[in-house]
Amino acid sequence: MKRMIGFFAALTLLLGGCAPAEQHLSQTLFSMDTVMELQIWTDRGDDVMNTCVQMLQNLEKTWSATDEDSLLSRRNAGAGDVTLDDEQMELLNRALELKNFTGGAFDPTIGAISQVWGFYDGQYRVPEDEEVLQAMFRSQWDLGAVMKGYAGDACVKLLEESGARCGLLNLGGNIQTYGTKPDGRPWNIGIQNPDGGESVAVLSINGTMAVVTSGDYQRYFEIDGVKYHHIIDPKSGYPASSGLRSVTVICRDGMTADALSTALFVMGLHKGSNFWRNNEGFEVVFITTGGDIYATQGVAISGCEYEVISREE
Ligand code: ADP
Ligand code: MG
Repeated sequence: MKRMIGFFAALTLLLGGCAPAEQHLSQTLFSMDTVMELQIWTDRGDDVMNTCVQMLQNLEKTWSATDEDSLLSRRNAGAGDVTLDDEQMELLNRALELKNFTGGAFDPTIGAISQVWGFYDGQYRVPEDEEVLQAMFRSQWDLGAVMKGYAGDACVKLLEESGARCGLLNLGGNIQTYGTKPDGRPWNIGIQNPDGGESVAVLSINGTMAVVTSGDYQRYFEIDGVKYHHIIDPKSGYPASSGLRSVTVICRDGMTADALSTALFVMGLHKGSNFWRNNEGFEVVFITTGGDIYATQGVAISGCEYEVISREE
């Protein structure tokens, strides 16, 4: 018996010695037209990082609105040979549900409008009213406002499945956290100053969460001193001018956070605050064109002066 115990003790030591140590994996890549930085803490080797990178690149290849060979572009062009699998159909259905949920402020079929403003080919221009009107009647899929959130959710799922301890994913301004930060404290996520430079505020985030910002500074062009940015008000066909510089949404689900950040930017502070009051499961930080910061009452925010938006108006 003693010998058996000795054998198992030796085996345990041996196996214990072989267990891979936890690694902090970090990778920067360019995908979906933006710089992404993935950080993963895991003792399961680096396969999960490679799988995430591969998955991000596959999603871009499938859903890019600017790459004319993507599945989305071919479907938009009416190619007869394009079939979608269940997962792809589910993504489009969820996008339509989010359109409904936001009363059309988030509209995944505004592709033709983005195109006439030159946001696809970078040939920026102010289109004639007639062109904008025609584009508003041409329904073309554009998942640009939810793709990074959808991709973030897919990465989080891969981390979960791989047994990784935690992760911090920065998909070009879309931040998704997974698990508890290695030191056990909340994740600190900065909100970008719309004018550039340091963050204007810091959010304290616990566990797995998405923190997604839409801003007028992320993509825009200027003609005759007027700035035209890439968030379109589907009702006018023009860049939304709702009195906001940025909207940050904090929500467990990345795709929802992404759709809502775009939609609330279109709605503006007043309508957006009421939308938050009438719904649950997310929190919001608005930055107005005057530089004022408004945060809904569940946000843990520091480093700035701000006004609280409460449930009762
Ligand atoms: P970013 O992609 O810069 O992080 P958003 O998530 O707000 O910002 O997405 C903006 C992109 O979504 C645009 O580049 C365009 O492709 C598309 N888009 C613009 N306006 C809308 C809208 N109202 N609803 C849905 N998609 C939009
Ligand atoms: Mg968005």
